[in-house]
Amino acid sequence: MAAPVNAGTISPVVDYLRISLIDRCNFRCQYCIPDEAELEYLRQQEVLTNAELLQLLQDVFIPTGFTRFRLTGGEPLLRPGVVDLVRQIAALPQTQDLSMTTNGFLLAGMADELYRAGLRRINISLDSLEPETFDRIIGNRGRTRWQQVWEGIQAAYAVGFNPLKLNVVVIPGVNDHEVLDLAALSIDREWHVRFIEFMPIGNAHLFGQQGWVNSEDLRQQIRQRWGLTGGQVRGNGPADVFQIPGAKGTLGFISQMSECFCDRCNRMRLSADGWLRPCLLNETGQLDLKTALRSGVPLSELRMQVQELLNAKPTINFKMRESGTTGAYSRTMSQIGG
Ligand code: SAM
Ligand code: SF4
Repeated sequence: MAAPVNAGTISPVVDYLRISLIDRCNFRCQYCIPDEAELEYLRQQEVLTNAELLQLLQDVFIPTGFTRFRLTGGEPLLRPGVVDLVRQIAALPQTQDLSMTTNGFLLAGMADELYRAGLRRINISLDSLEPETFDRIIGNRGRTRWQQVWEGIQAAYAVGFNPLKLNVVVIPGVNDHEVLDLAALSIDREWHVRFIEFMPIGNAHLFGQQGWVNSEDLRQQIRQRWGLTGGQVRGNGPADVFQIPGAKGTLGFISQMSECFCDRCNRMRLSADGWLRPCLLNETGQLDLKTALRSGVPLSELRMQVQELLNAKPTINFKMRESGTTGAYSRTMSQIGG
């Protein structure tokens, strides 16, 4: 009999759920939603309601061991009632960690109420410090949106979000010339800049043209400029964390292309329409929890199905390097909930 894929390895505890609140977005980042993608958005009745989501958390996910939650999207701040939802999830006694990933466009006006509702950690995407480059990446053709995002970051910092992380997807020939300027944001403020290797999800065409930048090449540039030491920051992710000597913040590198961390994967993803996905990079084993919930499948049965998926996860994890391919995606990152 063939040995199980994870034979001889110790699988990490899977207790981290990334929850997509909405599949829509007010940006159209080229690495996330390619120009040619014709997205079919979910209808409102297809999206899990707040009550359904809370029921799934309380009666299915928490009993199966999930205690750390990240709200994402699409753009989570576009979801009507997002502040109430934050308040309700933060108030669950078993919630050990609640965070959000946002593009920051609506953050300036919402940072304070999100903080007061119980959100403490936030990741904001900021791929460029140049308004023109930024607008090109996010597909904006009107008045620049950079300034509003920048104000959102300042507002989140002023309110006290900690850690406050800035996510940068590095795209060769587009923003890779800004790596040192972006890294420098971590020096004077407690901002944690994370460089993410560009992944071929729903954008294989663009990927083929532009390739991706290896985290080690970025570290090399930064090392030459300032030096680099080991660092630490609270989080649930696979980032390798470093620090410019004397800096207040840190630098994280998420290297899913150059370094396979599938064996360390501690998360599952719940889409806005209630599909539970055990692995970002393939569609094996997905569970349609919304349909099950709405058709009256007992919660005990749903718990059992999720537990079975947790047991199967080590064999489902994609292991990109071993497979030598880039996986199968019928949804873009904005639809999956990155
Ligand atoms: N709209 C929010 C935002 O942009 O922060 C949250 C959703 S977005 C899908 C979550 C994260 O996925 C962002 O940090 C984004 O940069 C990242 N992302 C999207 N497409 C990606 C890709 N092809 N490769 C690497 N990261 C990607
Ligand atoms: Fe950009 Fe996030 Fe929207 Fe994707 S979901 S297009 S990464 S802002």
